[in-house]
Amino acid sequence: MLNSIGISNKSAYNTQETIELRYDPNDTVLSCRYLERGLAFQTDGLYSCCLATVLSPKLFGVDEIESGKIDHLSIVEKRKDIFLRLNSNDVSISCHCCGEVYQKKFKDVHLDRLGGCLLNIQHYTVCNFSCSYCPYAKADELLPPQYSEQKIIDILKCFGDKEKIITGSWIQISGGEPTMLRNLEALISGITDTNLGDICIFTNSFKHSDIIENYLKSNSMFLSTSVDAGIPSTYKKMRGKEMQVVFDTLVKYRMTGTTRMQIKYIITDENRSEDDLFSFVLLVLVLKPNLVHIIPEFPYGDKQIPRDSALFGAKLLYSLRKYGDFNITLQADGISADPKFTKFSVEMHEEYDRLCTETELTDEYHILNWTNEKEHAVQTGGYVNHLTKSLSTYVEKNSNRNKKIALWGYGTYGQLFCYDNDIVEKNITVIIDADKHKQGIRPLLNKSIIVEPPEYLVNNNVDAIIIASSNYRIEILDYIKKNIKHEVEIIK
Ligand code: SF4
Ligand code: SF4
Repeated sequence: MLNSIGISNKSAYNTQETIELRYDPNDTVLSCRYLERGLAFQTDGLYSCCLATVLSPKLFGVDEIESGKIDHLSIVEKRKDIFLRLNSNDVSISCHCCGEVYQKKFKDVHLDRLGGCLLNIQHYTVCNFSCSYCPYAKADELLPPQYSEQKIIDILKCFGDKEKIITGSWIQISGGEPTMLRNLEALISGITDTNLGDICIFTNSFKHSDIIENYLKSNSMFLSTSVDAGIPSTYKKMRGKEMQVVFDTLVKYRMTGTTRMQIKYIITDENRSEDDLFSFVLLVLVLKPNLVHIIPEFPYGDKQIPRDSALFGAKLLYSLRKYGDFNITLQADGISADPKFTKFSVEMHEEYDRLCTETELTDEYHILNWTNEKEHAVQTGGYVNHLTKSLSTYVEKNSNRNKKIALWGYGTYGQLFCYDNDIVEKNITVIIDADKHKQGIRPLLNKSIIVEPPEYLVNNNVDAIIIASSNYRIEILDYIKKNIKHEVEIIK
């Protein structure tokens, strides 16, 4: 029997007949979570995703956004067109070479929803900085908003009107420098009203913002600031401004009591010195961010990520873990769309493992220990993608071996990982969580899969475990080491 995704009403914008997708429900097709439910507002239009170095499919141009005629139906129609091209020989579409593409059954494809993944708002690039690694500054393209914030909100809202919003999204307002937006407050409150999920604002923190401070006080927004240096001379060289001004703003933001502060280190050719590394670790110990991101400079075009950046990243990670049990994300781990990031991740993990073998990491120097005291920040999109990729690689490697795989963690990460994910659906045989309130839940379509307590794994053999937890990863690994006597592989 043929199943189809077709919508009979015509869109206000799209005057053509709607596209009908004709596949058998059990047909295996190619798709991607961003294609199905993502959106990225860029300076030149509306795209499916913002996966950095991959050219995302464009849905609409600026004029079309400004026309105010984009609605739910017209977005779904564009997605259907991209889906068809991805599932044909049309190699002109960039998705064909993107690592985010997965095989799934056609019956599991939904193109009419929004969220449950990373959404991006970057309709401007104007900035009060001119950083040496900034592609916009380099190209002299620091542009003011190219369309109004209200248009963005209207487009997000049209999914709400159809009850097609998936909460738990990660909405990032990047840029450019958001404190330069005149309508920042209206933009933030408009997004908040859609109930899509958490907003993360990327600011260089040079200019203090009362709006940001207030949202941080109520813990209703994540803040992400790239510091990228440990010492003022490097900061000035790379970013052209005084590091102390930024530090002062971050101290003020820190004093709001937020549990949603993220500090980033973008590794470039200019900031890989010992001085920067050590001083950055001290700065982190003072500011106590809830999350530290380590990422290499984006390798646009032919640019490669130097091996030295991976070695530096590994040493930075090791040093941060030596002095505090920080919540750290290695953003490149989650960017499977670009093989250069995969290579960086492998090199960095190898070096980190080598450093740990050389001198084992213990809590002997943990001057900062705050596990269980704070709600750690969550960078959902990248981490969940990383989990999906890791699981699918393991499954591919062990195809036909009928492996039993446990998913450990049914918190924020675990829930997003399970949501609408047929790789999880097909391959996970049990979910483990120490939280009694979660035990007994049946989160998957396959209702025989139950959330069990950790002791389950002591008495029931599984071949592999994938951990969907950042906060408790060390404790989980410790439990496995101490209590599980049979051989079990940890899916990394
Ligand atoms: S396949 Fe890749 S490029 Fe295409 S929409 Fe998905 S994430 Fe973006
Ligand atoms: S702060 Fe960000 S947007 Fe501004 S110039 Fe630097 S990298 Fe570019």
